Amino acid sequence: MIIDSIQGAIGHTPLLRFTHQHFSEIPEGSAIYAKLEYLNPGGSIKDRLGVYLIEEGLAQGRIKEGTTIIEPTAGNTGIGVALAALAAGLPTIFVVPEKFSMEKQALMKALGAKIVHTPTDEGISGAIAEAKRLHEEIIDSYLPLQFENPANPEAYYRTLAPELVADLGAEITSFVAGIGSGGTFSGVARYLLERNPAVRLIGVEPEGSILNGGASHGHEIEGIGVEFIPAFLEGLPISGFTTVSDADGFAMTRRLAKEHGALIGSSSGAAMVAALAEIAKLPAGSRVATIFPDAGDRYLSKDIYSREEY
Ligand code: PMP
Repeated sequence: MIIDSIQGAIGHTPLLRFTHQHFSEIPEGSAIYAKLEYLNPGGSIKDRLGVYLIEEGLAQGRIKEGTTIIEPTAGNTGIGVALAALAAGLPTIFVVPEKFSMEKQALMKALGAKIVHTPTDEGISGAIAEAKRLHEEIIDSYLPLQFENPANPEAYYRTLAPELVADLGAEITSFVAGIGSGGTFSGVARYLLERNPAVRLIGVEPEGSILNGGASHGHEIEGIGVEFIPAFLEGLPISGFTTVSDADGFAMTRRLAKEHGALIGSSSGAAMVAALAEIAKLPAGSRVATIFPDAGDRYLSKDIYSREEY
């Protein structure tokens, strides 16, 4: 396969199948299919979004030559947007809460981006507020704002979801995915529902996220978890949310690396915990699709595979 830009390597990721042979909780005849989004060139599911946000901004005339792209991000969207912006010759500024991994920040910088930090305790809401302030201040800037922009779920509706259906058919019993902005979950869910209204939709969040109620607090699982209910979830017939502790999420992340060679991040471990809980409840022959959103090597400075006390 020959490609003329790195964008050509985005998408068409494989599905890794897990059966009873790999996890005893999976009933015989059932299977979990994990979409290996960490194999995208920027190392995450958000490469797909980067392309869409830039294309949409250009199509709407909001991005012109020299427009600065500003975005609040936990890091992966920054890397995805930076890749797309680089291809279009646009400067980028990303607003990142301090706690997020150094590797993601180094990768954004490697792609030419500037990083602005906001305090960890202000969460993603603090990063959104600062990005809005910078957008006001910098003339000729564009704020795609993944948390509100319909291009976010659209990117997954148009790319990832059709790939899932092409590989698995429309008879997917359940779709289980982590929720950050909710873009991946809602875009894929909408596409699957149109083909099979009975599909079960399970959102995954870390402890400290508010989807199952309770107070918002910090967590170590990165990329998922919300302080407010994402607008994209509105109107979706969601079957339930599974809340995964840092301890369980990281234990699964380590297990997926050690036993299956999947070098994925902690939101993938959390998704797998939730997918196993879901499939254990379903009759034999069920198919659960889930997503492994990003790569683990961007969390090595956080001892992702070696710190046992999470
Ligand atoms: N996992 C990781 C590692 C992420 O970076 C993100 C995006 N923040 C997600 C999951 C969740 O994706 P979404 O924003 O589409 O809900």
